Amino acid sequence: MNGDKVIRELVRILGPSRVLHKPHQLHTYNCDAYVAKTSLPRAVVFPESTEEVARIVKLLHENDIPFLPRGAGTGLSGGATPLNGEVIVSLVRMNRLLRVDFDNLRAVVQPGLVNLTLTRKITNKGYYYAPDPSSQSVCTIGGNLAENAGGSHCLKYGVTTNHIVAAKFVLPTGNVVDIGQPFGDPVGYDLLGLVVGSEGTLGIATEITVRILKKPQAVKTALALFDRVSDASDTVSDIIRAGIIPAAIEMMDQLAMQAVDKSNYYVGYPADIEAVLLIEVDGMAAGVEETSQRVVEICKSHNVRTVKVAENDAERALWWSSRKMAFGATGRISPDYIVQDGVIPRSRLTEVLHKISEISRESGLRIANVFHAGDGNLHPLICYDSRIPGETEKAIKVGSAVLKVCADVGGSITGEHGVGIEKLEEMRFLFTDTDLAAQLAIRSVFNPKDLCNAGKLVPKPSRCVEVRHAQRIIEQNADFFGGFQEQTELMSPSK
Ligand SMILES: Cc1cc2nc3c(=O)[nH]c(=O)nc-3n(C[C@H](O)[C@H](O)[C@H](O)COP(=O)(O)OP(=O)(O)OC[C@H]3O[C@@H](n4cnc5c(N)ncnc54)[C@H](O)[C@@H]3O)c2cc1C
Repeated sequence: MNGDKVIRELVRILGPSRVLHKPHQLHTYNCDAYVAKTSLPRAVVFPESTEEVARIVKLLHENDIPFLPRGAGTGLSGGATPLNGEVIVSLVRMNRLLRVDFDNLRAVVQPGLVNLTLTRKITNKGYYYAPDPSSQSVCTIGGNLAENAGGSHCLKYGVTTNHIVAAKFVLPTGNVVDIGQPFGDPVGYDLLGLVVGSEGTLGIATEITVRILKKPQAVKTALALFDRVSDASDTVSDIIRAGIIPAAIEMMDQLAMQAVDKSNYYVGYPADIEAVLLIEVDGMAAGVEETSQRVVEICKSHNVRTVKVAENDAERALWWSSRKMAFGATGRISPDYIVQDGVIPRSRLTEVLHKISEISRESGLRIANVFHAGDGNLHPLICYDSRIPGETEKAIKVGSAVLKVCADVGGSITGEHGVGIEKLEEMRFLFTDTDLAAQLAIRSVFNPKDLCNAGKLVPKPSRCVEVRHAQRIIEQNADFFGGFQEQTELMSPSK
């Protein structure tokens, strides 16, 4: 079938209102929140059930048409950007909460359910869903699964992978599989562990079983202002060293505070302080009071200028919104910015922040820092002006230099935003060709024709011995893998 016929067939399956294919309808889908690269998709389709996703994917697979899944499009690394003229499979209409089992602390959701909506739907019974990316009011649980999303409260509660226990998954061949188990540890290969964080390259999650938690009895939130970044960094290390695991420890530097105070989320940070920490502890009421006092004492032992515990929910909410809206607020101080996402050992915070400010000085680009300090997960916001010739490219280089610093101290090039298309080259800071080939070999088992979100997450190694070996295995098991057709050039280094 040629491309036009495939579109007609998609319209036949879903009806005309659920297939966008006219050029003027496609511009909204030319990138995600990583806007440095854009490209139009071939079409955008809106299935409403696992069966419809499977039928669409089978059709595209059989006709060699590339495709990719998309949630809310808030990804920050280009994971949902259609670089190969893909058909975008949008999951936004699959947004229902299917079942809640309060006795066993499980909820079954469709992938397009917005993260915060899940908590809103169960909050009146005293429950919530823990992973809380700052984008939680718009991003989807399917997108969270694919990116293994983190959030402010993941220091204590763990990132998305700790909260997803099972999923229905449409493989890139159109076959439907169940992975993980609602209860108990993984049996057999831990395919769920593989799929969480796979950035839409191994298939499409169409039903997801998550853990839900009882809301903590008490919460105390402290705001600590520091004259020096080094004192704030030492405070973070000392809190953890004292055996306290706060629900969250977030840090913002001076430039980030300036941005927030120019936005609707004004707190009134003193202009001359270098860093603010937002530290939250939660749990049983009695313990929380005592832990919160210890946190305040540790702040005081590190020259804090002022430290204050929120007096009421309104004050706490204001502090949190100033932190959670800080990315958006950066638009108040710069026409453009790139959000970077490196990880470092917590103990190297002061040194790495110093190196980032050196990179900023040398490049002439301002860098604001807003981040999950407790996890050592940095988010340098590299400010630039795309109207100045060459400045976008400079900002991209600065981002890469920052990630090199993170990798060099034993950290990682992404804590939660994924690799996508943005950090492909930086994967080589962490992995050898052999490492990368092993990862691509896995991909070719799930995604034999490389039609599902090709070119994302893993760069091509210069040698492909292991990949070719995996392809031979797939050929020998063609029935199982959904009619593999020979694609010997698929992952050749020259492509
Ligand atoms: C202001 C702002 C703040 C943010 N803060 C955070 C934060 O604190 N923590 C954090 O982790 N991230 C954060 N992000 C990044 C982003 O919100 C997350 O990566 C989120 O998980 C993406 O969800 P989405 O629904 O928008 O997915 P999309 O952007 O649509 O897709 C992301 C990836 O998932 C794949 N995908 C989508 N749905 C499925 C599915 N059903 N099955 C398989 N693959 C799928 C796509 O192909 C793509 O590769 C932030 C983004 C913004 C804009």
